[in-house]
Amino acid sequence: MTKAATSPTATLRDLPKLDSLLASDAFSNLIETAGRQFVTDETRTALDVMRLEIREGGHVFQSELTETALAGLVERRIAALIDPIQCRVLNATGVILHTSLGRAPLAPEVVAAAVREASEYSCLELDRSSGKRSDRDKLVNDLLARVTGAEAATVVNNNAAATMLILNTMADGKEVPCSRAHMVEIGGSYRMPDVMRKSGCRLVEIGATNKTRAADYENAITDETAMLLKVHTSNYAIVGFTHEAALEELVEIGRRRNVPVVYDLGAGSLVDLKPYGITREPSVPELVRTGADLVCFSGDKLFGGPQAGLIVGRKDLIAKVKKNAMFRMMRCDKVTLALLEHTLKLYLDPDSVLERVPTLRSIARDPEELRRKARSLVSRLKKLGVEAATADSTSQIGGGSTPGEELPTTVVIVKKLGGSPDAAAKRLRMGEPSVFCRIENDSLVFDPRTLLPGQATELVAAIAAARKA
Ligand SMILES: *Cc1c(COP(=O)(O)O)cnc(C)c1O
Repeated sequence: MTKAATSPTATLRDLPKLDSLLASDAFSNLIETAGRQFVTDETRTALDVMRLEIREGGHVFQSELTETALAGLVERRIAALIDPIQCRVLNATGVILHTSLGRAPLAPEVVAAAVREASEYSCLELDRSSGKRSDRDKLVNDLLARVTGAEAATVVNNNAAATMLILNTMADGKEVPCSRAHMVEIGGSYRMPDVMRKSGCRLVEIGATNKTRAADYENAITDETAMLLKVHTSNYAIVGFTHEAALEELVEIGRRRNVPVVYDLGAGSLVDLKPYGITREPSVPELVRTGADLVCFSGDKLFGGPQAGLIVGRKDLIAKVKKNAMFRMMRCDKVTLALLEHTLKLYLDPDSVLERVPTLRSIARDPEELRRKARSLVSRLKKLGVEAATADSTSQIGGGSTPGEELPTTVVIVKKLGGSPDAAAKRLRMGEPSVFCRIENDSLVFDPRTLLPGQATELVAAIAAARKA
C-alpha cells in the first residue's frame, strides 16, 4: 500500500465502524459480487489489521481509512483468496509431462463429455437392463482391458495407490524379491522400500544397484514368496556396467515356480513410442503380451488422462485386488471415471489417437512442423519489435519418465526482454496468461512442442507484453 505523505497520521478514533463501511456505496459492488458474509468477514479482519498497526505505531494515514481505500483493501484480500490458484499456463518449456504444471493436459472433447455426465444423474452403479446394482467402474475396466489386450483391469486414484493395493493384496506378511536397482523414489515421500513396508510385505533386496540377473530372482524364491516385482526406473537411468533381468526371464521363472510377476510401470503408454525415438518406455500392451501377471501405471502420464492408477492383467488377481477393503478407500470418483472412459474411447481408434490425446500429439509432432512453427513465432515477435531467433534444441517427456531420451525440436530464443533473464521469466510467469519457458545461456527459450492448438498467438502477445524498457 502506498502511503500518502501529506495525509495526517490516523489514530484509533479514525477507524470507521464495520456497519457503516458495509452500508457505504464503496462496498455495495463488492457485496454484490462476493456475498455479504465473505465481505463482512474480510472487512472485519482488515479493520483488525489496521487497528493493530495503529497501536503498534505503524503510521497508518487517514487516507488509508477512507471507505474507498478500505474497499480496495478488502477487494484485494478477497481476490487473493478466490483468484484461481491453478491459473492457466502456456507451457513453452518443452517438457511434455511437467509435474508442476499438471502433467497431462486432457483432450477438450474428453472434458466436455465428462462435464456433461457429471452435471446430471448417471447410471454410475446401476445396470440399466436389469435395474440391479452394478460396479461403478465396469465400463472403464472393460475398455481398459480391451485397449491393453489384458484379461481384466481396474482403476484407483493414482499409481502410488495401485502399487500399494497390489502389494497389500498379494503379499501382506509375505516376501517380495525386488532388485536393488528398483528402490526408486518418485517424489515427495514415495520411496519403494517404504511403500513396501507400509503394505505389510517383506522386501527381499536382490542383486546390486547396477546389475541384477534373472538368477538373483530365482534364487530368492522361497515358500514365503508372494510375487516377483519389477519397477520401471522411470526417473533415472543407470548407465555403464549394468544388467537388468528382462521381463521375459521373470515371466519364465514365475510360470515355472508358480509366482506371479508384477510390473510397476509408472509412465505406461498404450501406444508404441519407438517410432518417435522413445525406446525406454515399453508399451502396456507389449508387457501384457510378454506375460506379466499384473501391470500398473499412471493415468496422467503418457496415457494422457486424469490422475488415476490403472491396473491390468490376470482376471483372478484383479478380482482379488478389488476385494481388498483398501480398494474402497482408493476408488475413483465419477468425474475421474468419466474422464478415463472418454480418454479410453479415443484409444479405440489407433489412427486418430495420436492426434486426439494431447500428450501423444506433443510427442508425435513432426520436427519439420516444429521448425516452421518456431520460424513463424520469430517473425511475429519481430513484427512486434521483440528480437528473437530459432535454434535446434530438444524437448523432454518429463513427469519422471524416459530420462536421457529427448525429442528433437526447434526453439525460439529471446535474448533481451529487459532486465535479467530471471526477472523477465518472472514477468512472463506473472502475466495473463501465465507463460513458462526455459532459461539457457542467459536467454529465454520457448519450445513450440508443448503449446496446445491456438496458443501461439497468445504466446506472442504475452512475450511482447512482458517486455520492459
Ligand atoms: C509415477 C510413478 C509412480 C506414482 O504414480 P502416481 O500416479 O503419480 O501416483 C509409481 N511408480 C512409478 C515407477 C512411477 O513412475
